[in-house]
Amino acid sequence: MEIRKKLLYQFIGIVAIILLMSSLSVYFAFSQGRKEEFYDRLGSKAKMVAQMLIEIDEIDAELLKRIEKNNPVSLPEERIIIYDYQDKIVYSTDEDNSINISPFMITSVRLKEEVRLKQGSYEILGQFYTGNFDRYVVFAAATDIYGLVRIERLKIILAIVFSISMVIVFLSGRIFVSRALQPISKIMSEVGELSVFNLNARISEGNGKDELAQLARKFNKMLERIESAFKTQKEFISNASHELRTPLTVITGHLEVILIKARKNEEYRKTIISVLGNIKNLNHISNRLLQLAQASSEYSEVEFNTIRIDEILWQARADLIKANADFNVNIRFSELIDDELKLQVSGNEQLLITAMVNLIDNGCKYSPDHTCDINVNNESTQVIISFADNGIGIPAEDIEMIFQPFYRGKNVSGQKGHGIGLSLVEKIILLHKGKINVSSELNKGSTFAVYLPLIDGSLLR
Ligand code: ADP
Repeated sequence: MEIRKKLLYQFIGIVAIILLMSSLSVYFAFSQGRKEEFYDRLGSKAKMVAQMLIEIDEIDAELLKRIEKNNPVSLPEERIIIYDYQDKIVYSTDEDNSINISPFMITSVRLKEEVRLKQGSYEILGQFYTGNFDRYVVFAAATDIYGLVRIERLKIILAIVFSISMVIVFLSGRIFVSRALQPISKIMSEVGELSVFNLNARISEGNGKDELAQLARKFNKMLERIESAFKTQKEFISNASHELRTPLTVITGHLEVILIKARKNEEYRKTIISVLGNIKNLNHISNRLLQLAQASSEYSEVEFNTIRIDEILWQARADLIKANADFNVNIRFSELIDDELKLQVSGNEQLLITAMVNLIDNGCKYSPDHTCDINVNNESTQVIISFADNGIGIPAEDIEMIFQPFYRGKNVSGQKGHGIGLSLVEKIILLHKGKINVSSELNKGSTFAVYLPLIDGSLLR
């Protein structure tokens, strides 16, 4: 159900319940008041008649009847019956037997002193009366014609007021709900107009204070993030295609030039070597891009096993030294590491080797002494691997950017590279629920620290 309708029905429901309850309270209070007042009048009448008959010797039943017949303050349809202690009627104005008094009723009055009951349209009050020498039971009955008419009128007035109020509540509720939801409808139509082509559009934040303004602000923040992710993706694609196109252009150029005329074997050889170098470069870039895609995938899509960090480091060192004989890679383990469990992480072996190779390669590549010192330590529930070098360092303005794909520092123009390595490293470390940070001083050196959670971190606590 639409919120609009839900709110309206809830509003009408609440008001209806309140109105109904107050109308019923008014009705019952009035009806109770009428009853009390009428029985009071019946009581006074019964008492007065009994007093006259029993206590004034000059008045007998016949005389009293005559007096009562002409009494202008009689109640409508009034009937008075008085019984003596033997249940014999000593006085009665109920000539047509309109009310029916049973022996049980007489006994009840004697026991309870006062009894109230209803017979048809008659309301009857039974009272116990003690005279000087005898005890009597007096019944006074009458019909409260005027009181009942008043109550009936009240019932109709309350029903009319209730119905009119409900119509007003329904109409005003509709206006109220549509006014309250107007900002939401506005946001909905603005959101409806958003698409990938106008991601720079923002939705209006209304008065800037209420919950809807907060929602709009949060939504705008999310739009900002989506926009920037889109931008990054676009940049990534253009950078990636640029990186792939460069060696392809070089290859095409070489081949076109060599095909212009017949060449000597030596020239063909040179061209082939150059083309091969470019193809290897292409291969390297596309492998990196593939690894980047793999590391960017979901945790569940990558196979994770129990891995020993020392084995990964030795493997990475061996791979690098095989390709670069002039690299010096020193690995040192803290004396705190006295158990292989303190080196075990859950991870993907190939991805972790790739990450370590990149960090060691950078350390050696960007240092004149081609040396990278690796330290392995434990802290809290994780293993920390730091890669330190005494190289060119990273300019302060580049430090924030070096983890972005294809970003290269301003001081590395002489070095080969594509700027993919560190973004790949960061993705791999994040995939392993770890983190990486860097500290560097220009022309002094850099240290990259990788934190990876241990499988059994409880060992270190
Ligand atoms: P690449 O090394 O191919 O340029 P990376 O993504 O591995 O790409 O590194 C990005 C940039 O970070 C490098 O271009 C360089 O400016 C900087 N950098 C990374 N590691 C080091 C380091 N050990 N010393 C100095 N600069 C570094």
